[in-house]
Amino acid sequence: MTDQDEMCPCGSGKPFEECCKQEYDRANATREKIKQAMSDPKKAQELKELLKNANKGD
Ligand SMILES: [Zn+2]
Repeated sequence: MTDQDEMCPCGSGKPFEECCKQEYDRANATREKIKQAMSDPKKAQELKELLKNANKGD
C-alpha cells in the first residue's frame, strides 16, 4: 500500500492531497472552533443565538 496513491473519495480521480484536502482541513478547523466555543459558556450562548437567528430565515 502506498499513501501517495490515495485517491480522493469525491471521485475526481485526483489524489486526496491535491483535491479535497483543503476543504477537509477547513471543515476540521471549523469543527475545532465550534468545540472550543462550546466549552466556553459565554461563546456557547453566542453560538446558540447565532444558530437561532440563522434558522429564523424563512
Ligand atoms: Zn476531492
